[in-house]
Amino acid sequence: RLVIGVLALQGAFAEHIHYLESVRVKGHTVSAIAVRTPEELATCHALVIPGGESTAITRVAARTAGLLPLLQAFVSDPSRPVYGTCAGMILMADADGVGGGKRKGDGAAWGGMRGLRVWRNLYGGQLESFEQEISIPALAHPERPFNAIFIRAPAVHSLAADDIEVIASLPAERVPAPPPADSALGAPDADATPHVMLRQGRKLVTSFHPELSGDARVHQYWIESCVLGR
Ligand code: GLN
Repeated sequence: RLVIGVLALQGAFAEHIHYLESVRVKGHTVSAIAVRTPEELATCHALVIPGGESTAITRVAARTAGLLPLLQAFVSDPSRPVYGTCAGMILMADADGVGGGKRKGDGAAWGGMRGLRVWRNLYGGQLESFEQEISIPALAHPERPFNAIFIRAPAVHSLAADDIEVIASLPAERVPAPPPADSALGAPDADATPHVMLRQGRKLVTSFHPELSGDARVHQYWIESCVLGR
């Protein structure tokens, strides 16, 4: 039995549980559980950090005794499979690797994907949400495009590690202007702006919400490649 936790403090967690449990893997029974306490996290082999509001997720986590340090330790342990979507991608960036957003001091991330630096809300607000079919050759049935849904999505600012693997990128016509230079993050890497799905060992991030597409292939990919290491 493979227990996958979905952090359920705020945001789009219920859909992730449903998608994870729909994935069939040979030789394993996947059970997905909502994680709100240190005790629940301790039962998990792997963790999904959902979309929502990264600042709110950190704020709520800090209210439960012992949870935030345990989450940070889980997420930054290279042997732990962790998948962050949207706000979850922001939280998996380097601690000092988050730009954008409105208030100062909002940026602190938990780490996990070493060298990942992101820019919040680069595509604009809720009204600028969009769907885009993208090609993800690593998925099952690679010939079928994946309908990626972007909601106040973050973008990659720069990648300060050479072991981050690009799994999918936006088509050229959809790529926004790179984020601005930032006093803390420095100059953006314009070549990295198109990337929307990245992997480093057992860690995966997507700037889009795969749990809203009616297609569990991204969850399946993460379970097979990052969790089971096939
Ligand atoms: N803009 C949000 C943030 O900064 C992320 C949006 C999302 O997860 N859909 O956390």
